[in-house]
Amino acid sequence: MSRLEGKVAIITGAASGMGLAGAKLFANEGAKVVATDVVGDVLDERVKEIVANGGEAIAYHLDVSQPDSWNEVVEKTVEKYGKIDILVNNAGIHMAKGILEAELDDWNKVMAINSTGVWLGMKTVIPHMQQNGGGSIVNTSSIAAIVGGVADAGGAAYSASKGAVRALTKHAAQWFGTDNIRVNSVHPGAIFTGMVEKAGIHSQEEMGSNYDGKAALKPYAGEAQDIANAYLYLASDESKYVTGLELVVDGGWTTNS
Ligand code: NAD
Repeated sequence: MSRLEGKVAIITGAASGMGLAGAKLFANEGAKVVATDVVGDVLDERVKEIVANGGEAIAYHLDVSQPDSWNEVVEKTVEKYGKIDILVNNAGIHMAKGILEAELDDWNKVMAINSTGVWLGMKTVIPHMQQNGGGSIVNTSSIAAIVGGVADAGGAAYSASKGAVRALTKHAAQWFGTDNIRVNSVHPGAIFTGMVEKAGIHSQEEMGSNYDGKAALKPYAGEAQDIANAYLYLASDESKYVTGLELVVDGGWTTNS
């Protein structure tokens, strides 16, 4: 039996990396996937591939930092599928600048996408989940929200933005538990994705070699599928008594910090 049969799932940042791996996995598990991203053409191509493989998925343009964009996507989703069961707030950007290097515009940009985007997603989707009798929200944070030892990789605004996601997740878990809405965060360690490729790293092994001695498990960096698997567990009814959890997927990095 498919683990998400009949569920409607919105995933943000689904054109690349963890969001794309999640969209494919959710479709394989029977979900109707609303794959969203700020990039258009790439997303359309990826969604066509999911559909060609027998999955049910649709591509909608969404800039997570914009309330109007959220309203449009949520309206279209409810019009098409009648409900929203799952929201994966996965979209995010990376910026490695430290406290002294970052300018105010850098800070605001990272916070707008990584933190405000998560709040806006929950604010727009939760009323529909309340009407529908519940739902599951998965927010992507980072180990940068837990330990300072990734400051070199994460940057100041990045770490702060992911800390906000961690706190917001716990707040929402408490606030909406009586509505049967579960809210959990996933905290990836070093994971080889498009985000990392943009920073000039070409393989999971190369990424891992930069972090020798940080993670416990070789090759010291994970892959997008490792995070998609965490998304699936938290989205599915298998985690029906789990809320407010920080699910760390880091090959053991934070056990050494
Ligand atoms: P990625 O760059 O491969 O994918 C991120 C996607 O988000 C892209 O498709 C991008 O177009 C989209 N996006 C960017 N800005 C957006 C916006 N304003 N609105 C909508 N979509 C937008 O990155 P990834 O590594 O798969 O990252 C996924 C999440 O995991 C992010 O939140 C990231 O911060 C987090 N994370 C990544 C790592 C890592 O090592 N890769 C570690 C910890 C946390």
